[in-house]
Amino acid sequence: MFLHIDIDSFFASAERTVDPSLDGIPMAVGSRSNLEIFEKERIGVRLMDDNKGAFVAPVFYSDREKTFEEYFVDIIEGERKIRGIITSASYEARACGVKTAMPIAQALKRCPEMIVIPSHYRLYHTLSQRLYHYMQRKIPKVEQFSIDEFFGDVSGWIADENVTAFAKKVQAEIKAEFGLPVSIGIARAKWIAKLATESAKPYGIYRVEDIDAYIETIPIEAFPGIGKGFQRRLKEHYITTLGEAKRNRALFYRWKKPGIQLYKRITGTDGEGIASRPERKSIGISRTFDAIYDTEEIRRRIMIMARHIAHMVMEKEVNPTSYYLKINYAEGMKVKRTENINRIFSEGLFKSVLIKMYKGISVPHAGAVKLSINVSGFSQRQHKTLSLLSYSADIYARRLSTEVRKLREKFGLDIIKTANEL
Ligand SMILES: [Mg+2]
Repeated sequence: MFLHIDIDSFFASAERTVDPSLDGIPMAVGSRSNLEIFEKERIGVRLMDDNKGAFVAPVFYSDREKTFEEYFVDIIEGERKIRGIITSASYEARACGVKTAMPIAQALKRCPEMIVIPSHYRLYHTLSQRLYHYMQRKIPKVEQFSIDEFFGDVSGWIADENVTAFAKKVQAEIKAEFGLPVSIGIARAKWIAKLATESAKPYGIYRVEDIDAYIETIPIEAFPGIGKGFQRRLKEHYITTLGEAKRNRALFYRWKKPGIQLYKRITGTDGEGIASRPERKSIGISRTFDAIYDTEEIRRRIMIMARHIAHMVMEKEVNPTSYYLKINYAEGMKVKRTENINRIFSEGLFKSVLIKMYKGISVPHAGAVKLSINVSGFSQRQHKTLSLLSYSADIYARRLSTEVRKLREKFGLDIIKTANEL
């Protein structure tokens, strides 16, 4: 049997573990695009990337706590503007119509008495990791699927008839030990267990015995990981429920591998087990801001983002060979470029390549509103495949990067900058 364990409104629940006065009232956690990395006067910023789950984005945080006014409110031409979106809302807030990803200003109109708290990612990551270690002790096979979701496989370890009692015990222990409410889905198939968790929420346990009967009336968009493309294609064939999907096997099989995989998951016949920790295949960050026309400022921001990515790359001890830069301009225009660089990665090399890429694609007189940079194509046995021409210079640069990383780990990410960031 598979268990899917999901923390109820995780960030909101996490805040309640440190401040019980938030219990039982409408409250939410909000966040906004973190532009702090571009501030010139910033100290003590650190990287957090402990959660190796493929869906957990790296976070740069500063130790300084901010109030609602400091974090969410901008004063623009004398007018008070509330920025940011809801990332997690308590069930009391949901009851008055607050939803995840809703702009905070709009959510407060629906629920004026709601308390909105700036995100404390360090707290969430720490709790998530402690929970993962707890699960590893309790369940022989466990997979962290996201910051607040875990799969467990108890087949051959707990008899089927005892799995519900086991889940109840796990749920009660997590509440007692961490103060966190979780919901648990149970089924013979992994993705059906995840689907079942939605039926269990909030703070419940839902066990699926008869998969066919359970999925019959569930709308297709409720199925975990079903993309917009599949949803559209299924609707074109007038398929709106998982039960109808099941009766259209031939259609899914026409869509080849992804279609077949989806069909098997929907019907609980995928036979998929618990995955070992997924390897990260790329490292990147993006930032959205009000339009910037000054090319020097855009270049400076690219360099700052490059430094943050370089820090993560050095920490992971990987050697990316593919660099990617995308710039979104106002009015929906965008440009992008990928460069394949078979050399030993270092911050200096990365920055110099990015400068060239930027020169190659930048649009003069256009206002940049978003920058995205990432690296991928990690070579394992790096040294063999890399260019020998620049080998010794690259080795030297890499060593330098490693030393710089150690300093930044100790004193914060802004301790050393290069000239091209200033
Ligand atoms: Mg959750």
